[in-house]
Amino acid sequence: QTPKKPPPSPSPLRNSKFFQSNMRILVTGGAGFIGSHLVDRLMENEKNEVIVADNYFTGSKDNLRKWIGHPRFELIRHDVTEPLLIEVDKIYHLACPASPIFYKHNPVKTIKTNVIGTLNMLGLAKRVGARILLTSTSEVYGDPLEHPQPESYWGNVNPIGVRSCYDEGKRVAETLMFDYHRQHGIEIRIARIFNTYGPRMNIDDGRVVSNFIAQALRGEPLTVQAPGTQTRSFCYVSDMVDGLIRLMEGENTGPINIGNPGEFTMLELAETVKELINPEVDIKMVENTPDDPRQRKPDITKAKELLGWEPKIKLRDGLPLMEEDFRLRLGVPKKK
Ligand code: NAD
Ligand code: UDP
Ligand code: UDP
Repeated sequence: QTPKKPPPSPSPLRNSKFFQSNMRILVTGGAGFIGSHLVDRLMENEKNEVIVADNYFTGSKDNLRKWIGHPRFELIRHDVTEPLLIEVDKIYHLACPASPIFYKHNPVKTIKTNVIGTLNMLGLAKRVGARILLTSTSEVYGDPLEHPQPESYWGNVNPIGVRSCYDEGKRVAETLMFDYHRQHGIEIRIARIFNTYGPRMNIDDGRVVSNFIAQALRGEPLTVQAPGTQTRSFCYVSDMVDGLIRLMEGENTGPINIGNPGEFTMLELAETVKELINPEVDIKMVENTPDDPRQRKPDITKAKELLGWEPKIKLRDGLPLMEEDFRLRLGVPKKK
């Protein structure tokens, strides 16, 4: 009879940091505007290790400056349209340009990012058993015929327009998420994000809030795209990040609208920026781009009921916080 093998002695590594139960979280697009604020919040929890994968198309290392070199943080230059083989527990999948100027710049790349990029992140989630959250968009409602927009509304989207690479891309991304969920049992979360603003937006990224604030600080006219009566609802970035984390940690797949229901016309927004930041600038009407949605406002009943979430920061309180950051970056000090 062969003697029984003695049980393996406990490895000296057992109590080392390699065996601590840290949560490893991947944030794709983490060098961007919303992603970098999300990383800041996730890094506050000492049990989280955060890995950012970003190709720096619209994001920048500068947004993550304070974390580079931190033992719980890792930054990878990676394009999500290529496979990614790493080990993680959770995936926040944000990678995708969000400003119309950038997503229209290379529309084929935008749709690849949305479709192949999301497919790859789902493949990764499937291989390692991770939960994955997709940042979808209010653009899936297109030029909405229902107002405000509940999640049950299927949308009014032009499939062949200049915005389609983004909004149809996100619609396919949502479809992929649900197919992986139904077919492979992947744990999914879908957030439909409405217009978000705050510090670290690209100064020249062409979105309306960043444009108006930069114009007001440079003393240039605020460019309202005609007719100016189109509406948007603006959510401050800290509220957005709070909503995304609640969705990830909660029990509901979504889709769930995350946005601020305070609705403004673009003329009202221009008037507000003028009043708060520089009463001397003019407001100028300029030509609009095709397929611009005429109205947009989230119905956030689901977010309230299922996530216990609602935004706290009103536009008038959020704009000055963003102004401060833009003043620093543009080198325009506040007049005494
Ligand atoms: P952003 O452009 O600041 O950030 C996107 C990040 O993704 C950037 O760092 C960019 O470099 C990276 N990226 C783009 N393509 C990539 C690729 N192929 N591979 C790897 N990285 C890539 O935009 P944001 O405002 O922070 O938006 C983040 C997410 O939220 C996006 O998915 C966007 O669609 C969604 N969203 C944003 C808003 C908004 O108002 N900001 C509204 C709706 C939805
Ligand atoms: N994938 C990835 N990382 C992984 C696993 C998969 O990027 O850890 C990619 C893979 O290259 C594929 C996609 O995810 O293109 C979908 O993977 P899945 O296993 O679902 O499909 P299949 O590889 O069978 O087509
Ligand atoms: N817009 C504007 N002036 C600008 C940039 C945008 O009036 O300098 C308008 C644009 O026509 C749209 C709204 O602001 O009606 C929001 O545009 P943005 O590009 O910020 O976001 P999205 O269209 O994706 O909601």
